[in-house]
Amino acid sequence: MVKAAVMVGPGAPVEVREFPTPRLEEGAALLRTLYSEVCGTDVHLHAGHLAGVPYPLIPGHVNVGEIAEIRGRVVDLNGDPLREGQVVTFLDVHETCGHCWFCTVAKASTRCPQRRVYGITYSAEEGLLGGWAEMVYLKPGVKILPLPEEVPPERFIGAGCGLPTAMHALERAEIALGDTVVVQGSGPVGLSCAILAQLSGATEVIVIGGPEARLAQARRIGADLTLDITTTGAEERLEQVLARTHGRGADVTIEATGVPQAVNEGLALTRDAGRYVIVGQYTDVGDIQVNPHRDINRKHLEIRGSWGSDFSHFWRGLRVLAKHGERYRWEEFVSGRYGLEEADRALADVREQRAVKAIIDPRK
Ligand SMILES: [Zn+2]
Ligand SMILES: [Zn+2]
Repeated sequence: MVKAAVMVGPGAPVEVREFPTPRLEEGAALLRTLYSEVCGTDVHLHAGHLAGVPYPLIPGHVNVGEIAEIRGRVVDLNGDPLREGQVVTFLDVHETCGHCWFCTVAKASTRCPQRRVYGITYSAEEGLLGGWAEMVYLKPGVKILPLPEEVPPERFIGAGCGLPTAMHALERAEIALGDTVVVQGSGPVGLSCAILAQLSGATEVIVIGGPEARLAQARRIGADLTLDITTTGAEERLEQVLARTHGRGADVTIEATGVPQAVNEGLALTRDAGRYVIVGQYTDVGDIQVNPHRDINRKHLEIRGSWGSDFSHFWRGLRVLAKHGERYRWEEFVSGRYGLEEADRALADVREQRAVKAIIDPRK
């Protein structure tokens, strides 16, 4: 039998249930979970903020584990056969069709209507398809990536899904060498954005967020200035950013907060003819008012959304971890490890922002 933490419905306590050990179909693999993560999406899932979620489900969309069993020939992206005992991760997004209008014409596979996501759009009734479990069933066709030797599992999961999400946002941000970048939000996505902004050539990175434990991480990874939303007002923050940019504002601002009102502030913080990337508004938590003349048109502002991530962001993220992992030590974002029985406490700690990064360790 395999134990898994199951989200039975919005607001209900997470239950640990037992599932039969699955029999593998041809081309499938079974992963023995080392770590899964608790990300903001899981908090939204638990609050019932996402539409069409097939409760009950096993959460956990970014995972790392050891291959316990393989049936038939299963290869990685380079065509190399995978073997039992290997430490791997896999792309949570599965069954992106490659044939629909979004896949082929828009080349925006994150909007493919066929896509299924481990830990989000699969029900527990369909099998062990989420990482808050001792084992994860990797269906044929799931994109599996061995962890590079330089990347310990703890570091990989410390970066978690925040890293590929940030990789996508940074691609959208098109930062130039010498830019001043403001990152709104100091959760896992914001922190990875602050790292990638530096790697992209930004010479001044300002992180706005809180609480202090998260801002301490922002300074550790090289933020030039942190502004705590719990002790400063929006006016004061704007003044500070203007003071460091000769009164112009940031060249690029990246929103990673999940709070709609942060967008008003972000528009103000960005310079005329600058760029604003919105990545943190993953669920619908309300409307805001903007002045289209003052905030967008007269500013000649470019505003871009960034939704989810695809395999390229995942793959490139792993390369970044292999090259820059020692310098930024993503594993230090992990502020708590929780067993399957402690999933509710993990969700609460992420929701209340007591955690920087909470991870699930089914072996605990
Ligand atoms: Zn996530
Ligand atoms: Zn498609």
